[in-house]
Amino acid sequence: MKAKVCLMPALGVLTLSCTKQQDRPNILYVFPDQFRSSALAFWDQSAFAGAQRWQADPVFTPRLDGFAEEALVLSRAVSTCPLSSPYRGMFLTGMYPERNGIISNCMAQRPDNTLNIESVCISDVLSASGYQCGYIGKLHAEVPMKNDPDNPGHYVSRRRPEWDAYTPPERRHGFEYWYSYGAFDEHHNPHYWDTEGVRHDPHEFSVAHETRKAIGFLRCRDRKRPFFLCVAYNPPHSPYEDPSKDCLPEDYALYKDRPLSELYVRKNADTTLSKAAFIRQYFSNVTSVDRHFGMLLDELRRQGIDKNTIVVFTSDHGETMCSQGTEDPKNSVWTESFNVPFLLRYPGKIRPRVDSVLMASVDIMPTLLSLTGSSIPPGVQGRDLSSLFLTGEGERPKAALYLRNVNGEPGPDGLYRQFFPVARGLKTDRYTFEIALRRDRALREVKIYDDLEDPYQLHNLDYREHRELFDNLCTLLSQKLSESADVWDRENILDKILEQL
Ligand code: CA
Repeated sequence: MKAKVCLMPALGVLTLSCTKQQDRPNILYVFPDQFRSSALAFWDQSAFAGAQRWQADPVFTPRLDGFAEEALVLSRAVSTCPLSSPYRGMFLTGMYPERNGIISNCMAQRPDNTLNIESVCISDVLSASGYQCGYIGKLHAEVPMKNDPDNPGHYVSRRRPEWDAYTPPERRHGFEYWYSYGAFDEHHNPHYWDTEGVRHDPHEFSVAHETRKAIGFLRCRDRKRPFFLCVAYNPPHSPYEDPSKDCLPEDYALYKDRPLSELYVRKNADTTLSKAAFIRQYFSNVTSVDRHFGMLLDELRRQGIDKNTIVVFTSDHGETMCSQGTEDPKNSVWTESFNVPFLLRYPGKIRPRVDSVLMASVDIMPTLLSLTGSSIPPGVQGRDLSSLFLTGEGERPKAALYLRNVNGEPGPDGLYRQFFPVARGLKTDRYTFEIALRRDRALREVKIYDDLEDPYQLHNLDYREHRELFDNLCTLLSQKLSESADVWDRENILDKILEQL
């Protein structure tokens, strides 16, 4: 193997263990927003029997079902801090939130909560090593700034507080093709800013529109270079109120007449909640994503590049959809929120199978870089799981960290510059664990669920009655907090809680 050397100012020298650019795999990374792991019909099929202890949602996902048979399917992948922006920060940088700058969801009232400009992203590395990088869809990794290309000195809309954002070229981290926005939730009325900063309002269902743009990218790409294309669909994220505004009629038709008693299969769902009927719209958009994801696979096959393209299907977090009696769809340690789909197809290189490896959000970047033969930049905190993927051999993480942060006290201007690290936890190969604080940092609650015996997490094991288990989980948590240089470690928050018990 001949080493190839690339120079990039931000990264220094990268050594690539590849002979030819065309031998390096392309990457298509598709991540709809709020797509929960159980919303995949294949979990109930015989090939996946026993991989989950819970039942699959009664959804139609035929393309993902077929894809799963060709992919490495992770049954316990998690979204470390299950919110849009923190996930994106970790995926892009391989760093935990405090290091990459995105601690909570990006919006104008949190002026410092944004992707550190100096963070080296997966796209920076791949671009520097010759990849053509493209980003389509929801970015939500930047604080909204008053930089509307059509109205300089103003936010991109008059909404207050502002959530949406325009990302100028100098903040795109190596993505040379751009068709994106910050955060905006009208599925039939999306908008985007393109590579040149021109705004587009296509008045088309966003998943269909972004799929067409992605196919356009694949057809017009530079065929001398490998590509890295991210497609960040917003559905099945809310809103779910009005099917005519939020769904495609052909997909909604599959669910609209089905009784809730058929649609809710999870034993922890409270169907008396006001959002209960929204499950029809949610599942409709799951099916829309499935169908359009299939169109992307078809395009790869048509071009004959399916064999040399790593395709990932995942999500930024899940959706509780009335489970655990909460209206909050995410930002909780419960399976419906914390677990995410993660399917990776790399024909001839990675054997299709189910694996229960505890993959965290920060592990994605180093793993994908390694699979392309790229160096992993300094500062990355995630693990390179590529050898586990390729050979099944290698050290398996004992746990995956869970983080929940909320606003700290507002400043005199009403803006939030501090955050409060309200909960930390873990998933292990058997247990889900969380310690939550009160505002005075005293213990508020401990959650311990035995996911093997209690897959719907109906019985919180009392930590006082399961002291040895609790102590073991605390030891693991302490290790993970130290590894991730978390504020709970720096400020001895866990130790202080344990001293009180
Ligand atoms: Ca999200």
